[in-house]
Amino acid sequence: MISGVNHLGIAVRDLQASMALFQQIFRVESFHRETVADQKVDIASFKVGDVLVELTAPTDAESPIAKFIEKRGEGIHHVAFTTEGVNEELQRLAASGVQLINTTAQKGAHDMMIAFLHPKSTNGVLMELCEPPEQHR
Ligand code: ZN
Repeated sequence: MISGVNHLGIAVRDLQASMALFQQIFRVESFHRETVADQKVDIASFKVGDVLVELTAPTDAESPIAKFIEKRGEGIHHVAFTTEGVNEELQRLAASGVQLINTTAQKGAHDMMIAFLHPKSTNGVLMELCEPPEQHR
């Protein structure tokens, strides 16, 4: 079941520069830093209320984020929704004709299990379903 917005993913070229910028805007006291090797990205995230903002920079020219920035520039990359039972939701969505990028959940940042829906199926918005560790089954 999809129960809320978990985070916003923002694609940035220079993580240090973006951290300085967002620190100023939101008075961020500390960032969570993480490298997700599978996605070839470095992440710096912080919370605004209940929602995480995830600044995401490519570690490699082959990273999906590098390709996104090359094509569309920096900006909102995806919206992620907290989901209980990601794999069951993926099956339900696939059965109703939604195109998926990941047919099963993968390991993402914050020890979450994540999967992306194809933006062709979602009005051009890249959507991620993510299951926080306390909800893993
Ligand atoms: Zn995400």
